[in-house]
Amino acid sequence: MIAIDGPVASGKTVVGRQLAQRLGYRFIDTGLMYRACTYLALRDGVAIEDPDALTTLASATVMDIVVTPNGERLLANGEDVTVHLRTPEVQALVSNVAKVAGVRVAMVDQQQRMAEAGEVVMVGRDIGTKVLPGAGKVYLDASADERVRRRLAEVAGSETEAEVRENLELRDKIDSEREESPLRVADDAVVVLTDALDVQGVVGAVIAALSGGA
Ligand code: C5P
Repeated sequence: MIAIDGPVASGKTVVGRQLAQRLGYRFIDTGLMYRACTYLALRDGVAIEDPDALTTLASATVMDIVVTPNGERLLANGEDVTVHLRTPEVQALVSNVAKVAGVRVAMVDQQQRMAEAGEVVMVGRDIGTKVLPGAGKVYLDASADERVRRRLAEVAGSETEAEVRENLELRDKIDSEREESPLRVADDAVVVLTDALDVQGVVGAVIAALSGGA
């Protein structure tokens, strides 16, 4: 079991995916699950300010993540909602949904069950501190400027630099200040600063760190 946590655009997903491929482990990107809760709330008219309604929605939604040649797909009660998960609307609200304690309980429970099924590389914000405390733990970080650069390259012109920076700073703030399992470096996590490294460099550093070589 490997847990990878870190702030927005720290490289968790791309590094976690490659690491999982190299080790033959299942890759689970838990951010997709909180994004799916947010999408379903928007679609079904569930108020984002209503923690009880969000908890009911999250508790009634069985999430499954399947790996296909087109990347990971998120199935919510069997429905593939992947294309809706990276929109500006979902991105703007996901941290408000993810700070609701009842939503987290429902998602953490499902994540722990996914990890019982076999070896995983799981990425998120609270994987080392809450979901899989027994895992090998890595915390990826990079400067805010570098993270904005990476996210800007991903959104390919659909958002301005100011919009990307604003969303990144807002999500990091909500994610690290919330009461329920905030974003933190786990006590026994290896911190890898990724500013000066490409993806292969980070994957190599993570493998070395987890095997005690760094
Ligand atoms: O990793 P990603 O950017 O897709 O995550 C989207 C949001 O989901 C985060 O900003 C955070 O609010 C929430 N999240 C979380 N705990 C996790 C994974 C994601 O709170 N384990």
